[in-house]
Amino acid sequence: MQVAFLGLGIMGRPMASSLVKAGHQVTVWNRTPGKEVDGAHIASSPAEAAQGAEVVWMSVSDTKAVESVLFGPQGVESSLQEGMTVVDSSTISPSATRKFAERVRARGTDYVDAPVTGSKTGAENATLTFMIGGDENTVQKLMPLFSAMGKQFFRMGETGKGQAAKLVMNLQIALIYEGFAEALTLATKLGVEADTLLPLIQGSMVRSGVVDYKAPFITKRDFSPNFPLRLMHKDLRLALEAAKEARVKLPGLETVEEIYEMATEDGHENLDYAATLTLLEKWAGVEVKGASA
Ligand code: NAP
Repeated sequence: MQVAFLGLGIMGRPMASSLVKAGHQVTVWNRTPGKEVDGAHIASSPAEAAQGAEVVWMSVSDTKAVESVLFGPQGVESSLQEGMTVVDSSTISPSATRKFAERVRARGTDYVDAPVTGSKTGAENATLTFMIGGDENTVQKLMPLFSAMGKQFFRMGETGKGQAAKLVMNLQIALIYEGFAEALTLATKLGVEADTLLPLIQGSMVRSGVVDYKAPFITKRDFSPNFPLRLMHKDLRLALEAAKEARVKLPGLETVEEIYEMATEDGHENLDYAATLTLLEKWAGVEVKGASA
């Protein structure tokens, strides 16, 4: 298929590369020039990349970035044609997604929201999980592209529901990680080492994918970004915003969001969200580490 891929960040670049490897004709664009993907053409604007594409795929930071790529100067909108499909793999607001979809559909182009989970490694190994909102037939037609980049595909319903599902997934990841980080901090303060506690966690019902993924990084004290704290913070704010729109109260999430706020004030926004642990450590006067640190 002819695909325009817009946004070559941590996620977008390997995703575009997987499409090239699967034999698709890919044209890429990134706001800051200089990023490229082997085997893909480079365009100088979203509008140019989208010219003649069957599918326009986006992976950019946030709601504003998607709006600007679609409708800003030299945006995708001027190249939209009947029969094309726009797919958004960024994590953004569900309600904004519905508005964007309405404006895009006015041009005869379909719109699918398909945020992902699986982090940098999932993008690099083409094992992402997609949470999809959009028309079932359109989603079926996109399957060769989804399969080139991922392993699991969950259609959550109509447009916007992929984003809704993504926000509630990240809500859980942040709260589970917060529980894990608080447990490690208190355990360390009480004299139980992380290396001693981890086999107990993993051998009990407390075990989780979040712990599986994050524990090796924490015991090495490697807070380099797999999923940057600033992006998780953005998602938590989006979840709170969606909750407010729906008149839902989320007290646990409100507290955890404040921790992300303080971690940002401490200058950790470009580290992995696992670095929220360092704030708890600072308050407790301890450092969690394993023998491998
Ligand atoms: P990233 O590395 O920070 O890349 C962000 C991309 O968005 C860059 O290409 C950036 O362009 C572009 N961008 C930002 N603002 C823009 C604007 N106003 N107009 C046009 N382009 C703009 O982020 P990422 O980790 O790839 O994440 C991309 C999306 O996937 C985010 O919504 C994130 O929440 C979601 N996500 C990330 C992960 C993860 O583990 N990293 C996992 C699941 C979902 P420049 O190069 O010019 O800055």
